[in-house]
Amino acid sequence: MKYERETLEEWDDAHVWHPFTPHSVYRQEKPLMIESADGHELIDVDGSRFLDGVGSLWCNILGHRREELDRAVSEQLSRVAHATFLGNASVPGVVLAKRLSDLAPAPLSRVFYSDSGSTAVEVAIKMALQYWSQHKPGEKSKRTRFLSFGEAYHGDTIGSVSVGGMDLFHARFGPVLFEAERCQSPYSWRDKSKGDDKLWLELASRDLESVLERCGDQIAAIVLEPGMQGAAGMLTQPPGYVKRVRELADRAGTLLILDEVAMGMGRSGSMFASEAEGVVPDMLCLAKGLTGGYLPLAATLATEQIFEAFLGPPEEGRTFFHGHTYTGNALGCAAAIATLDIFERESLVDGLPGRVEAMRARLERLRNLPHVADIRQYGLSAGIELLKDVDSGEPFDSSERIGVAVCLAARDKGVFLRPLGDVIVLMPPLTLSDLELDKLIDSVAYGIETTLQVNK
Ligand SMILES: *Cc1c(COP(=O)(O)O)cnc(C)c1O
Repeated sequence: MKYERETLEEWDDAHVWHPFTPHSVYRQEKPLMIESADGHELIDVDGSRFLDGVGSLWCNILGHRREELDRAVSEQLSRVAHATFLGNASVPGVVLAKRLSDLAPAPLSRVFYSDSGSTAVEVAIKMALQYWSQHKPGEKSKRTRFLSFGEAYHGDTIGSVSVGGMDLFHARFGPVLFEAERCQSPYSWRDKSKGDDKLWLELASRDLESVLERCGDQIAAIVLEPGMQGAAGMLTQPPGYVKRVRELADRAGTLLILDEVAMGMGRSGSMFASEAEGVVPDMLCLAKGLTGGYLPLAATLATEQIFEAFLGPPEEGRTFFHGHTYTGNALGCAAAIATLDIFERESLVDGLPGRVEAMRARLERLRNLPHVADIRQYGLSAGIELLKDVDSGEPFDSSERIGVAVCLAARDKGVFLRPLGDVIVLMPPLTLSDLELDKLIDSVAYGIETTLQVNK
């Protein structure tokens, strides 16, 4: 049955509660009503097409309606959609675990599934805590705290918000969050370094070092989004920082959890950001692009050493006490296997540096536009920060919703974007063509120019 747009909008307004959406302005900010998609484009109920400039919120990495992915999911559907993974196995879940552990750097050889980026981090936190509580039998561990970073975003569940660093969330949910040790965002030192990467690295590292000197022996794990803090506003890190964090974690004898929910699966320009940074974490969190953006599936990869601390007779209670009903969902795992197949068949990773450079070259154009304070790129993702006064650093009043306005103007050029405040976010599919990249960047330039009423 075909529904009229008016009917759908009426029902949407009457019955739907959208995530991260101020409903008082929802309709006036012209939400799309998507009906289908084709390649890198979303198609609304009127048949209008929009280039998916944020990969349907950072997860669509290979385009929509990929024949191989469609086929993999429908073939799996003809066998079984879901069977429990609790104390049981099903074929795609096992195959995907083997594929992921072959792909991830040794010794990350164990795969624990869940359903979202938030749960991937939540699982890592609980795993780290339980690991320390039982890794030395008969010894009570002091390692019960977590160290995370200012501005960090690791998801929306209570545990993942606790290790996040966004004031807005902490103000709302503070009373039920656990207290984490916190360093400043590595980005916060950039200004103080006056653009000197080495100094920036030293300042950010020293901050972490001082927290670890004070309480490193109580830290169960350091939780970091490597390369770029995405939802924080696309905040970059100085080159070598992730390596330094690994060294400092080792020196403090603690674990390192890398949250690659956004930057994993090719986004960084390598398969994994940790790989790009030459670092192996103790736990690696994957979600968003894992299924090519098709289905909700997440994986927390852990080392064999961590896994072994959970072994013992059942009555000793060393079992990992966590699991969701849809853990290891067969359709999601089939989509993820097909995603990895595409990476392999098309040697996608080999082509990424070229894509990253193509984006870098085009982003340069935007630098000279008024109100563009900064352009931050990491791999195939970028944030274009708009300020009211670039020189003084004065932001636009948040009630102006400049970021939203720029993205809405870009929509006129057939591109769909969703900003983070006044940072215009680009997270296109990794398979974007040069022509589509042109269109993406042109639309942002147009959006900035028309919204901020600048004559060319
Ligand atoms: C999106 C994101 C999450 C949360 O993932 P959900 O699937 O939305 O729960 C966690 N960490 C990072 C770095 C993310 O970008």
